[in-house]
Amino acid sequence: MGGTQLLSADVAPTDVAIVGCGPVGALLANLLGQAGLSVDIYDREREVYALPRAVHFDGEVMRIFQSAGLADRIAAATRPSPHGARYEEPSGRTLMIRRGSDQPGPNGWSGSWYFHQPVLETILREGLGRFDHVRVHLGRDLTSVDELSARFVVGCDGARSLVRAAIGSRQVDLGLHQLWLVVDVLTDPESSRTRALPPYSLQFCDPARPMTLVNVNGDRRRWEIMLMPGDDPARLIEPDVFWPMIARWLGPGDARIERSAVYTFHSLVQEGWRKGRLLLAGDACHQTPPFLGQGMCTGMRDAANLAWKLAAVVKDDAPDSLLDTYESERLPHARAFIELAVRLGSVIQATDPAEIAARNARFAEGSTIFDFPQPQLGPGCGLGVEPPVGALFPQPRLADGRLMDEAIGQHFAVVGEAALLESVRSEAVLLPGVGLDWLAQHGSRAAILRPDRYVYAIARDRAELDAGLAALPIRPA
Ligand SMILES: Cc1cc2nc3c(=O)[nH]c(=O)nc-3n(C[C@H](O)[C@H](O)[C@H](O)COP(=O)(O)OP(=O)(O)OC[C@H]3O[C@@H](n4cnc5c(N)ncnc54)[C@H](O)[C@@H]3O)c2cc1C
Repeated sequence: MGGTQLLSADVAPTDVAIVGCGPVGALLANLLGQAGLSVDIYDREREVYALPRAVHFDGEVMRIFQSAGLADRIAAATRPSPHGARYEEPSGRTLMIRRGSDQPGPNGWSGSWYFHQPVLETILREGLGRFDHVRVHLGRDLTSVDELSARFVVGCDGARSLVRAAIGSRQVDLGLHQLWLVVDVLTDPESSRTRALPPYSLQFCDPARPMTLVNVNGDRRRWEIMLMPGDDPARLIEPDVFWPMIARWLGPGDARIERSAVYTFHSLVQEGWRKGRLLLAGDACHQTPPFLGQGMCTGMRDAANLAWKLAAVVKDDAPDSLLDTYESERLPHARAFIELAVRLGSVIQATDPAEIAARNARFAEGSTIFDFPQPQLGPGCGLGVEPPVGALFPQPRLADGRLMDEAIGQHFAVVGEAALLESVRSEAVLLPGVGLDWLAQHGSRAAILRPDRYVYAIARDRAELDAGLAALPIRPA
């Protein structure tokens, strides 16, 4: 990895150039590499980002890592968590609980994983070494998309995206902008105070100083601390300022500071994720405050949605218009997560007495229990718009012990009653007898799944199944 390559007009254009080798760009390059596309991926930095950012991803994202062939390595470096998150007042009263589970959920994996972002990004980058047709150019700061002779250019170039500027996307502000200090500490495992820390993620709803405390993995704990009026951001990490803020839990004898940063948490979506050959994914097209631990996850879902569509257009003669379904599907889905994070932000960030009184009145009857949202995709590549079309199909284990996606690879698939699938001729992978409980719940006998495992169509009889297969956006094999 690491060499740069000069591109010129007489070199055959690469299929996809990716600007930005953060987590989203690196995942997209892995997925495109697996699909056999030629990829050039660029990053201005040589090393992965060192400051504290993502610590959590969900079961769907682990399933995406599975489809990239990296789940086992990532599972070994991360921690499934049986504990969700709790929103607590200083009095100890619990306002809200986000459920957690370390048991395999509908995606075939635990629903919550905690990790150290540099480790995850390193695994994703190392994964690219599997593909001769994926070339990694580190230390290459792109100043214009015109430098790139690729058939498609995807901007995974983060919050200040160059590709977004070239597209001219329109920013939609969802209302939350707040400064927070983020500090990772390495705790002394022998300290009794360390052992007394909550195992769950604590959203500490203290109007005097809202904070988040996360059990990351190993000895690493995360404090996110909201800046208050009068704070000097430059001094917050100095020992006489930092340790008193978290004295309720730990002192300098129990842990040492590993790294820190002050961020403005934003809530933004961009409209305009595509213009011709230019596309966006990840923080380049949406940013969320981290109260749900879903910013990177949202970008990973972008990558999974976009990867199979790019592969279908480049390799399988799918119409170019398939790429227009990317934003129409993903934007409302991403927005649902960001809007929930903003609502959670209004619970934890409340400092005004009237706001606190209104908040507490909302929870007077007891705490609210919630899960991660499971929104349907927006309208796009599916037969119809009514759920379960556009919903993520679960991943059961097959009779031979494999998880379902292992049998499908990067293809369309049909699950359903064996009798209905008999003698079906299709380029899709047929899985007779799979998913019958789910199908019964949705009043259908078969379902066509897209390569990203979202439901393309459901069928109550053979005629509906044949019609669905005839409408697939790829040419017959
Ligand atoms: C405090 C905090 C906590 C968070 N916690 C979570 C969490 O628990 N779970 C979660 O899912 N998300 C979380 N997030 C969000 C998550 O970190 C981001 O969403 C994610 O890192 C975005 O990934 P990305 O690849 O889109 O962009 P980035 O990680 O920003 O990567 C963009 C890359 O593009 C490169 N680049 C930019 N411009 C150019 C150019 N012109 N030429 C070449 N290279 C370029 C940059 O060097 C960079 O490497 C958190 C964020 C913060 C700040």
